[in-house]
Amino acid sequence: MAKQLLLTIGLLDTIIFNEARWEDLLKNPSKVASAKIEKRVGLLKEDEQDETARFSPKEKSGKEDDRYMINPHFENLLSKKGHWFLFKKEDQSPYQLGEIIIAIAAHEVRHRIQYRLQVELFSPETVTGNQLLDSIIKSAEKDMSRGWRIINAEDKEKEFDALVIEKITGEIVGAVNSDLGSIAEIIKSTTIDEIKEKIELLQ
Ligand SMILES: [Zn+2]
Repeated sequence: MAKQLLLTIGLLDTIIFNEARWEDLLKNPSKVASAKIEKRVGLLKEDEQDETARFSPKEKSGKEDDRYMINPHFENLLSKKGHWFLFKKEDQSPYQLGEIIIAIAAHEVRHRIQYRLQVELFSPETVTGNQLLDSIIKSAEKDMSRGWRIINAEDKEKEFDALVIEKITGEIVGAVNSDLGSIAEIIKSTTIDEIKEKIELLQ
């Protein structure tokens, strides 16, 4: 399962930062597992064992490249902590494991976008006028205030934004017109208006 998360993060990152086309990667999946992606993957340190996955920007890790660290015990963590299984989608249906994996991957790749680009971040005060999006923002606010997520986050604003992207992904991943390419489009958007437009195209 950790492997599947690794592959999904790799796919999304490659689509966004290497401008690869999703369709081409599908035809030739060996292109995804490039040295670049493998190099960024490492085991979490002892004190980080609680995290399923984490993006670590160059600024904090000295000379190394940006890295994504995946906890090899990802699946155990999910069932132990059960966070994701407590969450319900907007229609109250539970998340499927595949949806959880893509949503977590989207969250981590969004962090890389936040560090690399000038991004307008979602906040609990954001109102977009799109019903689904506004309701996701409200539910992200609830998750944060219940302390289910990100209690010790160094940067709460970036975490809130990544949580909203994670939840958007969980909602749209099964939508008729969505694939990893359209999810990548949302993750890399730098304004909230852009994200709203892209979601409306899928609805
Ligand atoms: Zn995060």
